[in-house]
Amino acid sequence: MKVCKFGGSSLANADQLNKVISIVLADPTRRIVVVSAPGKRFENDVKITDLLISMAKAARAGENVDCKLAEFVERYAEMAQVFNLGDAIIKEITEDIRKRLSRAGELEECEFLDLMKAAGEDNNAKLVAAAFSSRGVNARYVSPKDSGMILKGSFGDAQLDPDSYARLSRAFSSFDGIVIYPGFFGYTRDGKVVTFPRGGSDITGSILAAAVCADVYENFTDVDSVYPVDPRIVPEVKNVEGIQAMTYREMRELAYAGFGVFNDDAVIPAVRARIPINIRNTNHPSEPGTMIQQSRRVVPGTVVGVASADGFCNIVVEKYLMNREVGFGRKLLQVLEEEGISYEHMPSGVDSQCVVVKEQYLTKDREQRILKRIKETLNPDYTAIEHDITIIMVVGEGMCYTPGMFAKACLALASVGISISMVNQGSSEVSFMIAVRAKDRDASVRALYNAFFA
Ligand code: ASP
Repeated sequence: MKVCKFGGSSLANADQLNKVISIVLADPTRRIVVVSAPGKRFENDVKITDLLISMAKAARAGENVDCKLAEFVERYAEMAQVFNLGDAIIKEITEDIRKRLSRAGELEECEFLDLMKAAGEDNNAKLVAAAFSSRGVNARYVSPKDSGMILKGSFGDAQLDPDSYARLSRAFSSFDGIVIYPGFFGYTRDGKVVTFPRGGSDITGSILAAAVCADVYENFTDVDSVYPVDPRIVPEVKNVEGIQAMTYREMRELAYAGFGVFNDDAVIPAVRARIPINIRNTNHPSEPGTMIQQSRRVVPGTVVGVASADGFCNIVVEKYLMNREVGFGRKLLQVLEEEGISYEHMPSGVDSQCVVVKEQYLTKDREQRILKRIKETLNPDYTAIEHDITIIMVVGEGMCYTPGMFAKACLALASVGISISMVNQGSSEVSFMIAVRAKDRDASVRALYNAFFA
């Protein structure tokens, strides 16, 4: 059985919905279909979820929301009309959104916001199920409440209650036909609607794939495959074949450094259950897309992708004879721990220790406090925080046991006059990290791409 998830761009209008129906019907093993809320139809269009957020805020502020409500209903009515679904479904959607809005004054702000956000996916799943049925297909909407999608955590940032797997697996064990399931939200034990973070329909799909032990989790989006490098930095990558297969480890390393096509948090349930993930394009369904799985055939000496992420800084601590001082590293990390900051990388020299952290954690106050605490506890010869660091991850299982991979990267950077600020490679050899100054990011990524792929 396959679980398929279709994102907002795949369900933005009736044409797109038609493509979705054809894709699902083309393979009888596609049995569970997770849907997002309708996304943008054109560049400056508004995503339904964004519309709902602004509607919720306006309603809380006591403003008139009639226009927004009409805009919301119209998005669904447009699709219902093309599929000849009749008025009943639009009446149901209108009543549903009015009912949610009527709770604006009664609920806490974040609870109300989640109730409103969930309306995008929930109503879309009902409409998509009706569109399938209108084609004579045995398809039905299944609600997260009835199927046992129980979540915990906070509004807008929910996590799955692990007991949900058993409930969901039971709920799906005896169905026939195709299930249309709304992504992005579930319910707390006491019946409140809660959403995952934005983009959370991916999480729903991944949870259901794990719950039913799917053969594949197909994630349909609007790219043919994952590119080995960010096309905004290397536009010509669009002319070459994307990544056909990668391992979970490779995916994690690339997603960590900003590969935007998927969110590694979102696929944790599928990864833990060892379900292969296939990223595919709704607009080009004949393309095989990118397959992400536990293992793959690896050609020695090859790289799968080069990713880069901005927004890092480097806490530098230098002290003569540091290597002989027992507990130095622990004390340094303890300063960060006390500030609630997790570190990303920790390259070291004989008498110097660098700790790379995300810039977002460092307010001016915090920065001063950290430097002061380092001076007090470690008595270093020098300490400072360097800003504007970009990290570049060169990733590939094919690098294991292959001499010269790192040399190739260094030569490529040297050839365009870039000085490396730090490097880090774990013993897994699945990736190495090169830190450069932010201004050198694009030239570095291009040079590495040319070295490993061109
Ligand atoms: N509709 C939600 C969002 O825009 C969830 C999703 O599409 O995955 O974030």
